[in-house]
Amino acid sequence: MEFKINQKSDPEMSLQKHAEKFSAPRKDASGRVQLVGLSLEEMQAVLSEHQLPNFRSKQIWNWIYQRGITDFNAMANLPKELRAILTAHYAIDRPALITEQKSADGTIKWLLGMSDGQQVEMVFIPTPQRGTLCVSSQVGCTLTCKFCHTGTQPLVRNLGPHEILQQVMFAKDHLNEWPSSGEKEGRDLTNIVMMGMGEPLYNYDNVAKALKICMHPDGLGISKRHITLSTSGVVPQIHQCGEELGVNLAVSLHAPNDDIRSDIMPINNKYPLADLLDACRHYPGVSPIRRITFEYVMLDGVNDSDDNARQLAKLLVDIPCKLNLIPFNGWENSGFECSPMERIESFAKILENAGYDAPIRRPRGRDILAACGQLKSASQREKANKITATETL
Ligand code: SF4
Repeated sequence: MEFKINQKSDPEMSLQKHAEKFSAPRKDASGRVQLVGLSLEEMQAVLSEHQLPNFRSKQIWNWIYQRGITDFNAMANLPKELRAILTAHYAIDRPALITEQKSADGTIKWLLGMSDGQQVEMVFIPTPQRGTLCVSSQVGCTLTCKFCHTGTQPLVRNLGPHEILQQVMFAKDHLNEWPSSGEKEGRDLTNIVMMGMGEPLYNYDNVAKALKICMHPDGLGISKRHITLSTSGVVPQIHQCGEELGVNLAVSLHAPNDDIRSDIMPINNKYPLADLLDACRHYPGVSPIRRITFEYVMLDGVNDSDDNARQLAKLLVDIPCKLNLIPFNGWENSGFECSPMERIESFAKILENAGYDAPIRRPRGRDILAACGQLKSASQREKANKITATETL
């Protein structure tokens, strides 16, 4: 079931109204309650129904997050009867793997099936220095940024904290990153970016809950320095995110002024650049060492002139930041072209001369539609293809 939000309506109001109805299921098809995504205290409260002492919950928590166990029967230090109770009433499993695609450049895209049949995409991008997992926060998106493929898929629902964590845990399974996977030199998965499908700040509570377990030293133990949350500019939640989570902030900026930004990113009508940049300036912990990253997609003839670059340099002058210049990753009927490389280089040069770090990002996973702004679940593409085929009959 899907709901479409009228673009003229307020997505926050709509989300609030539909939050209950469109929240992620916490029980699987057989009625078992999902334990992944519960804080330790919540798990203790849930399991207290079986008169379990708190130290047992701690043991179960450790098996789940530190060893990646997906079968209660493998929890060797729990009594056999308890394992049977847990198996009957609770779940700690992973989403189903629907497809895995590997790019020639090593990028991997997984399409995952959640317990209610909804699907999300997740991408792993390895480089010699780090391995970054791009995690989704919603099925679809309300925000309709014109250059983004995900934005053409209506919001179906928010992902629950368990489904956000399950993506990371699924990747750890597939990259053999649990202690039980045997000896391995170093780690492949070092960084997490909340930059997949959806706007994470429109699903803040679930994202925050998942990231707290990700960062917990007894949870997945991933440092906040290695986690980045990317927003299209949901101003009211930005400060809360910095204060509560302390993760790195990336902002999808993509324009040097309100006219261009409102045209390609409708959210700018609600939160214009002045408000957005003010929130960035005051992001907790921001400093020349912890800079904000501004993402800037290079769209031919739209936002890529030398004047645009000069305007951008002026706009960001008092914000400790760096810019990522992203050559546009095309998709069918997008209506946009990527700026020519000489144009992007000239744009970058102006920013560099003004004192900014403005690397041109090397596109990754383009051949499997895994690059920035290209994510859209295969089921949706299939559905769209069927509709088009029917229409042309
Ligand atoms: S860029 Fe992000 S916020 Fe905008 S439509 Fe795409 S997924 Fe949504």
